[in-house]
Amino acid sequence: MRCAGCGRGAWPFCPECVRGIVVLSPPWCRRCGAPSTRSPTTCRDCPPEAVALSRAPFGFVGPVRRAVHRLKFGGWRPVADALSIAMVRAWEGAPWGPPDAVTWVPLSRRRLATRGYDQARALATAVAPRLGVPRVRLLRRVGDAGPQARRGGTERRQAMRGVFAAAGEVPRRILLVDDVLTTGATAGACAEALRAAGASDVALLTAARSIVSVRAAGTSAYTRRGLASGSVVAPGNVSPVVDASRGRSDPRKPTLGR
Ligand SMILES: [Zn+2]
Ligand SMILES: [Zn+2]
Repeated sequence: MRCAGCGRGAWPFCPECVRGIVVLSPPWCRRCGAPSTRSPTTCRDCPPEAVALSRAPFGFVGPVRRAVHRLKFGGWRPVADALSIAMVRAWEGAPWGPPDAVTWVPLSRRRLATRGYDQARALATAVAPRLGVPRVRLLRRVGDAGPQARRGGTERRQAMRGVFAAAGEVPRRILLVDDVLTTGATAGACAEALRAAGASDVALLTAARSIVSVRAAGTSAYTRRGLASGSVVAPGNVSPVVDASRGRSDPRKPTLGR
């Protein structure tokens, strides 16, 4: 395997790509893990209420963004395993206690047919054994939300309503896995479906989260021997964004994307 960031260097991330990885770390919003200069209990970038808590190890930029794209569109399935190490680490610090099951946001049948596998399921498959929790299919798609990319948060939420339904018996405490947290509309719809089917609490764990502006890099998330501890990015330099489709980031000006 080659580097998941650039496709040339050493697996999983070469030294150059490691420098470009943005590791999310406290102080942050205690509910959703969005970088913040304080540690609020909630923030404007929190996912919908049905999601009790969310965590992501990385900002969805640079090498991690490219790695997720390789996982989703390039057939690089082992990327799921590499990212799951950091996901589990991000989850272990979360004040939530052990879930009863790990499940995932299911891909539409049409996309599954094109891609050959479901990237969120691949991540859940890698995360679950590391947490010692069973991975269970608990969701299915019952509708089509249409194209998501250009919609704002509220529109996305409306479009996602009714897209998911619970499949089978749903345990009480569920950890939902997806590749990227953007507005949280998809995760919110999944959490609503799970709660309607009897879940008491749903938390979300993603490989990355959309952020619009990043100045600092210089992390040591991945070394040659795997994941290193103590990876830090100065929190003031990272801003979460609700609408990732806004594109451009200005490195000197951390701004919320709306
Ligand atoms: Zn690289
Ligand atoms: Zn928040």
